[in-house]
Amino acid sequence: MRKVLLLISMLLVAVPLLAAGGIDYDRFFTHEALRIDLHHTGTAGMEVFALDELVEEPHWAGNPSTLIDTMNLGGYLFRAYDLETNALIFSRGYCTIFGEWVTTDEALEGVHRTFHETIRMPYPRKPVQVRIDRRDRRNIFKNVYDLVVDPEDYHIRRDTRYRFFRVRRLKENGPPHHKVDLVIIGDGYRQDQAHKLRKDTKRFIKNFFNTEPFKSRTGDFNVTLIETISEDTGVDNPRAGSYKSNLLGLSFNSLDIDRYMITKSNKIIRDIAGNVPYDQIIILANGEKYGGGGIFKLYSTSISDNEFDAYIFVHEFGHAFAGLGDEYYSSEVTYNDMYPRGVEPWEPNITALLDTTSVKWGDLIAPDTPVPTPDDSTYNDVVGCFEGAGYSAKGLYRPYRDCRMFSKSLVDFCPVCRRAIERMIDFYTQ
Ligand SMILES: [Zn+2]
Repeated sequence: MRKVLLLISMLLVAVPLLAAGGIDYDRFFTHEALRIDLHHTGTAGMEVFALDELVEEPHWAGNPSTLIDTMNLGGYLFRAYDLETNALIFSRGYCTIFGEWVTTDEALEGVHRTFHETIRMPYPRKPVQVRIDRRDRRNIFKNVYDLVVDPEDYHIRRDTRYRFFRVRRLKENGPPHHKVDLVIIGDGYRQDQAHKLRKDTKRFIKNFFNTEPFKSRTGDFNVTLIETISEDTGVDNPRAGSYKSNLLGLSFNSLDIDRYMITKSNKIIRDIAGNVPYDQIIILANGEKYGGGGIFKLYSTSISDNEFDAYIFVHEFGHAFAGLGDEYYSSEVTYNDMYPRGVEPWEPNITALLDTTSVKWGDLIAPDTPVPTPDDSTYNDVVGCFEGAGYSAKGLYRPYRDCRMFSKSLVDFCPVCRRAIERMIDFYTQ
């Protein structure tokens, strides 16, 4: 009887913790952010995380009612447990440059490299155990890193850097906790080009909010521009032998793909972004050469002055914000076997179609649409399963004949991608 009572009282304690899918935010967290900077080192088949430093940042912009990530996206999963009760109090799926790099020839040949990475969470009031899992080749999460963080630890860095850059609030629709907070940072803009950075940003933002579903959900976003200044104009272009002193270190030819423009200078980006409340980082690079990049929950990048720039900005944001995969399969990439055969990708808009009777976007497929779906004009504007996606002409399927994640054009997101984006907006706002 006593045991039963004890069990009941334990359940009663547990219920408030789980009520509303939720965790009592103010019991576990302050409104600042904990930033965990890590070095992620290894090669194909081997990876190690090492702590760089812990930073207390002034703003946590995330939604207090969605502390647990229920979307199951990303190659990595970061979780935090309250050390005292062992309760899971925070989680996020995310992706890394390392996770892409390990599929390149260089990594498969056994070369080791290090990438600097950050995971962020609301600042804990009490000690937490932090755990990182990585998906294996079958997409099953395996533990790769553990760390205990005591929020009182005096080693946690508490300064803020790069406060001297001018901050402009371009769109303010409400308090950060219930908005998607975008921060835009410029790279390769000199002091005398601050005006161009403002002008470019306004043009991209206007285009972004003219694209669905962002158009219908404009009121759910806040947008902040940080007017960063570089010594040189433009970004690195290794294939042309051109290296610039650009503040954020953006470079074309990342992972030896000419158009792939990302940066390994994670720390400075995080130090700059940490000055404002943000959920998602967008980097705008000053230049004309075609390029961009987007990694889920890391950042998206776009070049400023290319005939395709409006397409790039939104397409790359689709990767970085909603975890969308590339639906195209005809362009050259250096990834090997990024989607192993016989394994369902976690991306919401690509399927291996291992079971034609249970497609993950099956609720959007009309009963009279054949699956797989013939790739001909009969099926324009119809949701189905069209072969060719994720850099592979065979064995992977996309939901629609055309989409912003498929063709290099200003075509709308397909219904499946659009829903994935809307779900992510809901996650930050509802
Ligand atoms: Zn799509």
